[in-house]
Amino acid sequence: MTIYGATIVDTPGDPFAGDPAAALAQDGALLVQDGVIRARGSLAALRADHPGEPVTRLDGGLLVPGFVDTHVHFPQIRAIGGLGMPLLDWLEQCALPEESKLADQAYARAVAAEFLDGLVAAGTTSALVFGSHFAPAMDELFAAAARRGLNITSGLVLSDRILRPELLNSPETALTDSADLILRWHDQGRLRYAVTPRFSVSASDEMLDVCAQLLGKGVWFTSHINENVAEIATVAGLFPGARHYLDTYRRHGLVTERSVFAHNVHPDEAELAVLAEHGASVAHCPTSNCALGSGLFPLRRHVEHGIHVALGSDVGAGAGLFLPKEALQAYFIQQLLGPAGLPLTPVHLLYLATRAGARALGLDDRVGDFAVGKDFDAVWLRPADGSTLAVNLRHAHDTTDALARIFALATPADVAGLWVRGQSIRDRAVRAESAACPDPR
Ligand SMILES: [Zn+2]
Repeated sequence: MTIYGATIVDTPGDPFAGDPAAALAQDGALLVQDGVIRARGSLAALRADHPGEPVTRLDGGLLVPGFVDTHVHFPQIRAIGGLGMPLLDWLEQCALPEESKLADQAYARAVAAEFLDGLVAAGTTSALVFGSHFAPAMDELFAAAARRGLNITSGLVLSDRILRPELLNSPETALTDSADLILRWHDQGRLRYAVTPRFSVSASDEMLDVCAQLLGKGVWFTSHINENVAEIATVAGLFPGARHYLDTYRRHGLVTERSVFAHNVHPDEAELAVLAEHGASVAHCPTSNCALGSGLFPLRRHVEHGIHVALGSDVGAGAGLFLPKEALQAYFIQQLLGPAGLPLTPVHLLYLATRAGARALGLDDRVGDFAVGKDFDAVWLRPADGSTLAVNLRHAHDTTDALARIFALATPADVAGLWVRGQSIRDRAVRAESAACPDPR
């Protein structure tokens, strides 16, 4: 057992459902045993109740739940920063040429390590990861994620048209390759499988039907939707019988409580109603939407329909893996929307970066906040002495104000500690371990 003494902050409530301030909780200590939180309270009280147990003091900064990224592309970690293009041009010129390189398994192994080490460095402990088009690359990602103890849900990306030929699979191959990966990796430790058609642009009805067959295995589903107006027009042309973009998925039974749709910048009211009716979630990707000029996310309309929204970094179109940066950009976007926007408080931002993601991924019984019984997945954000963030934290009026200053100023350099199921992992240590650890397959 270990007692962690810190300024512990989380959002056990839903700030979109009531008073945002009431969603925030603060304590001074957690008791952790075998990776699970066993007690929570003041440091004095936990010490008195558990005399003799070791105490780890995390003085300064804030201890928050590990971040949850609900949309991020592992094959694009080397392709960040391609500015000046809308979605379809960016895919063609920037993302897909890099994704093709993952046909080489050694290349994919190196990329998987860089990607996961990047998540760790950014304080992300759970993620829904958009995978690769190549099954051996998926084996590399899952094996490397297992070594790091991260909560990773991911799957083989499926496309059978329009993209460059090396990224295409037939529906038959997609079915057998995906089924093999599900057998090997789904529900292995903290790993889970997500059926992942790239988007309706590149997935025929036959391929989407294969996705429906795979969903019958109890796995998750993710794809893109309504990101860019040219993309939406392309989908309308490819599926003349569909009522709207979401209908291309709905017709195959792919809109469920286990479905996470990325972007949804330009939904119509009927699509929002269908998402709400089926309990599907939306991954809002703020820096990506800005970088590609996709549009300003209508968060208020989603919330008014009762749709669950979480955050995605959408690397490589997004501007890095650090979820607080996405939360800040989400705040900016709502400000720019004026009366149509939904003003966000620091409590909303913490919720969006942590518990909202856990809820979207169906992991909120295990992670996302520091309730007793949950896994101890935690990030200690403590800036270097003398940094502008340290100065601002010293002058914060209260915890909510401290959170505001963290979201405004923090970077991955401020991640002073990271725990997954109670194990402290740091990127340097993980690299040494993964270099020394033989492949388990
Ligand atoms: Zn994406």
